[in-house]
Amino acid sequence: MGAWAIAVHGGAGVDPNLPSERQEEAKKLLTHCLNLGITALRSSLSAIDVVELVVRELETDPIFNSGRGSALTEKGTVEMEASIMDGTKRRCGAVSGLTTVKNPVSLARLVMDKSPHSYLAFSGAEEFARKQGVELVDNDFFITEENVGMLKLAKEANAIVFDYRIPVVGLGLETCSVGAGAMESNLQMNGLPIRVYAPETVGCVVVDGHGRCAAATSTGGLMNKMSGRIGDSPLIGSGTYACDLCAVSCTGEGEAIIRGTLARDVAAVMEYKGFPLQEAVDYVVKKRLDEGKAGMIAVSNKGEVAVGFNTTGMFRGCATEDGFMEVAVWN
Ligand code: ASP
Repeated sequence: MGAWAIAVHGGAGVDPNLPSERQEEAKKLLTHCLNLGITALRSSLSAIDVVELVVRELETDPIFNSGRGSALTEKGTVEMEASIMDGTKRRCGAVSGLTTVKNPVSLARLVMDKSPHSYLAFSGAEEFARKQGVELVDNDFFITEENVGMLKLAKEANAIVFDYRIPVVGLGLETCSVGAGAMESNLQMNGLPIRVYAPETVGCVVVDGHGRCAAATSTGGLMNKMSGRIGDSPLIGSGTYACDLCAVSCTGEGEAIIRGTLARDVAAVMEYKGFPLQEAVDYVVKKRLDEGKAGMIAVSNKGEVAVGFNTTGMFRGCATEDGFMEVAVWN
């Protein structure tokens, strides 16, 4: 038997001035989800079952951008996406454009297990969900007051919001109910000061006691995204990847992650260059990722965990069988 390891994330790119209550709330949820995964691993659940279980839990809580609490499209609706990959046989499933499926990661699992395909989107994915009998809810269920305010802010800025940043010039932030207490940061985007929207996409990577690696990622995408936009999270090889060597889940600006095929590149560097996990992660962040754009969590079949990001912060937690456990936001 090998050693198990688990890592979770709740998004890269955190406002350096994010109020400490918000940070603590997010850390509490990550700790809870880590503990859920640890208990499942101790009861010998397989890696693929554990990543689904943990991501479902993250989707259910509105704190992060997945399931309830998802980022909104420019139309004020929610279009969710998710993917899951079982490294043992490189099986995978992905979904995009979901508007009524309560737990997108579980539909991705069903695509993998119960369909002849690896990726279903929009009306076809919804139809598959109905046929599979998964829990469906109205789109309103996913929309939180906080996100409605955040979308308003993004629209007032008349900006396509890349990842977590919204220009603050002339926005009258004092009237904005979003992220109460958050302050302007000194970061810039397109020459404008920005403030940063905190928690984002969620993901989980696991290696179980049999050395089986699995990864899952789930998201509402970017705030004020175009309807129909697909990010990295459902794209196998970009936001999510697992094989016999490792499992990886990414977060950050989807377009940059897609360009860098980040998740698969970590596995490729391990496979072709023989790098150990953390070195592979560092290499890919350095060589393939534009500055300030994203981050990732990873585990190896040897029971190692690794984290890498080049954003201001990344909500994440990890634990290994030897008793190590950490939940952190900053470097
Ligand atoms: N990567 C996600 C996307 O671009 C966003 C995130 O990680 O928060 O859809």
